[in-house]
Amino acid sequence: MSSETQTAVAPETKPASPPAKPKHFARIDRKLCKVCGICVKFCPVANLTLRTDHVVIHDKCIGCRQCERYCPDMAISVHAKEPSATASGQ
Ligand code: SF4
Ligand code: SF4
Repeated sequence: MSSETQTAVAPETKPASPPAKPKHFARIDRKLCKVCGICVKFCPVANLTLRTDHVVIHDKCIGCRQCERYCPDMAISVHAKEPSATASGQ
């Protein structure tokens, strides 16, 4: 007769990794934007939303530059959030 006792093993709890913060952001020049919605359609992460008179920019840009590439009016630009490593504060 075996009298082994089973010891309860706590499941491994890994800390949830925080969501990666976007390193890029898009900016739209409203003077140039015709609200055609092309950038909205090409954005792979739905970072842009078309409204009746403007495009809403969210905070999940991955920096792919598809919006820049396809905007017929060069109204949208993509920028890095972090300062460049060459910045030395004149
Ligand atoms: S593609 Fe260019 S002009 Fe069209 S909505 Fe986007 S930013 Fe505006
Ligand atoms: S760079 Fe890419 S992810 Fe960012 S807004 Fe433009 S299409 Fe969307």
